[in-house]
Amino acid sequence: MNDMLNENTYKAAVSRNGKRIGLYDVKFEIDVQYLAGTEQEIKKTIESNVDIKNNYFRVESFTDEEESGTSYVDGLGSNTGFFRYNQIVESGYTTIVHEYLHTLGIWQGKNAHEDSHPYNLNLIGKGQPGMMYIERTLVDRQHQVNPKAEQGDYVNGGHLDIRKRKVTAADIYNIFYKQIKLINGLADVGKLTSKYHAP
Ligand SMILES: [Zn+2]
Repeated sequence: MNDMLNENTYKAAVSRNGKRIGLYDVKFEIDVQYLAGTEQEIKKTIESNVDIKNNYFRVESFTDEEESGTSYVDGLGSNTGFFRYNQIVESGYTTIVHEYLHTLGIWQGKNAHEDSHPYNLNLIGKGQPGMMYIERTLVDRQHQVNPKAEQGDYVNGGHLDIRKRKVTAADIYNIFYKQIKLINGLADVGKLTSKYHAP
């Protein structure tokens, strides 16, 4: 996963009541486990979880998303979701990181679309595309599906190759865009949705 990071270190500005209270180093410690058991047991584990640090994702060949069976999480800052296996592989695994950032409540600022993806999908001349950009984003040629295609030629790959997305400093900033509530110096990022997804 490290090759999906665009920087060596990340910083986050945390503010309270509109006043900046500190600039923090951001470190991720992520441990991935397969949840074994019957569907009944898995459902119980997910629905009874009270640890904000735990996220649960079902992975199948298709999800129950109506239009295309695409991967999704249960809302901004949620801790549960449903991933489509082939989509994860075809995206160079960036879909996992993209969805994970949604679970941290990543928000693109006041100009964002309701689904929290970036509003401005023209990154020509702006360099490395961040992790929240979607497939139809216009990018510099080296980040295109087909670097030889005209920019904007969607039929021939003149748009973002999502495998080339990376976690940028702006992505990390956007996690903390909305105020984080500190209690005794600690804060929860995201929330417990605890939704079990049936196969
Ligand atoms: Zn998304």
